[in-house]
Amino acid sequence: MKKYNFNAGPSILPREVIEQTAAACLDFDNSGLSLMEISHRAKNFQPVVDEAEALMKELLDIPEGYKVLFLGGGASLEFCMVPFNFLEKKAAYLNTGVWATKAMKEAKLFGEVVEIASSADKNFTYIPQNYTIPTDADYLHITTNNTIYGTEIREDIDSPIPLIADMSSDFLSRPLDVSKYALIYGGAQKNLAMAGVTFVIVKEDALGKVSRQIPTMLDYRTHVKKGSMFNTPPVVPIYSALMNLRYIKAHGGVKAMDKLAHQRAEIVYGEIDRNKLFVGTAEESSRSLMNLTFVLKPEYQDLQDEFLAFATSKGMVGVKGHRDVGGFRASCYNAMSIEGCEALVACMKEFEAQH
Ligand SMILES: *Cc1c(COP(=O)(O)O)cnc(C)c1O
Repeated sequence: MKKYNFNAGPSILPREVIEQTAAACLDFDNSGLSLMEISHRAKNFQPVVDEAEALMKELLDIPEGYKVLFLGGGASLEFCMVPFNFLEKKAAYLNTGVWATKAMKEAKLFGEVVEIASSADKNFTYIPQNYTIPTDADYLHITTNNTIYGTEIREDIDSPIPLIADMSSDFLSRPLDVSKYALIYGGAQKNLAMAGVTFVIVKEDALGKVSRQIPTMLDYRTHVKKGSMFNTPPVVPIYSALMNLRYIKAHGGVKAMDKLAHQRAEIVYGEIDRNKLFVGTAEESSRSLMNLTFVLKPEYQDLQDEFLAFATSKGMVGVKGHRDVGGFRASCYNAMSIEGCEALVACMKEFEAQH
C-alpha cells in the first residue's frame, strides 16, 4: 500500500532527494568512497557547501551582505545563540507557542525579555495582531510557523528593530523578503533536509554589536569567517539539503512551492470545514499552510482512536496531533503531493460516511 507521510518532523522529503543522498553514501562523486568517510575539506566536498549556499541565495533572492550558514545543534541551539550574539540589554519576543516559549527561556539568561504579545490565552490557536514593538529592544524574535498549533505568519512583517525569525517549519515554502530580517534560522528536518543540520541566514553587519565574550563555536562570526567549516560540519545532511535545493529549483522555485502549499491547504482545509465530524483548531486567518490541525467535533470525540486506526489502514502516516493540541495534524510540507492530500480527504469522507 502506498504510504503518505504527514509527519510533522522529521518529515517527508522528495523521493529523489533521498535516493541521491543514499547513492552518495555508497559512492560520492565517483570517488569510490562514501560521503560518510571523506574529509569535509576534500576538494570535491567544498563545492557541495558552495552550491548549497549559492542555490539558497538564488532561490530566496538573498541580497548582498547576507551569509548562509550550515551549522549543528538544531533550532534549539539557535534559541541560545541568538541572544548570545544579539541581546545586549533587552529583547522582544512574540509568544506563539512552545517553540517561541523555549526561545524566550534561553534569552532570559542574557537580559530582559519583553513578551510583546501572546496567544497562550487560547492555547496558541491564533497569531496576535495588536502589539507594539519596543524600539529600544535589541531585536524582535518571531516564530513564523507554529508546527504544533498549526498557525503561521505567512508574510514578512515590518519591524523597526532587527527582526529574527525561527523558520524551522515553513522555510522554502514561499518567497521571502530577506532584507527585512537580521537573521533567519531553523532545523532542517521539517522542510529542507534530513535531520542534523541547522540553516542560518544572517546579515553580516548585524553581528558584533554585543559587548559580552562569546564562546568561539557559539559566535556567528566564527562560522561566517570560516564558511561553515570551522569544525566538521554535518556533511550528509548538508548534501541532502543541496539535493533538495536543486529539486526546488527544478520544480519552479519557492513561488511554485507557495502555489502548491495553497493548493494543498485548500484541499485539506476545505474538507475539514465541510466534514460533519471534524473542526479546525486554528483561527481561520492564522491557519498554517504547513501543519493543518483539526479535531473531532465534541459530539464525535469518542471516534479519536477509531479515526487514527482507519487513517493508518489507508496509508496515512503521522496524522496524530501533538499532545498539546490533541486530535490530528496533517503536515503538508513541500514534498507532500496533491495526490496525498486527496487521499487524506478521501479517507476523511469515507470515515464520515461510516458515521
Ligand atoms: C521542530 C522545531 C524546532 C526545534 O528544532 P530542533 O532542530 O529539533 O532543535 C524549533 N522551532 C520550530 C518552529 C520547530 O518546528
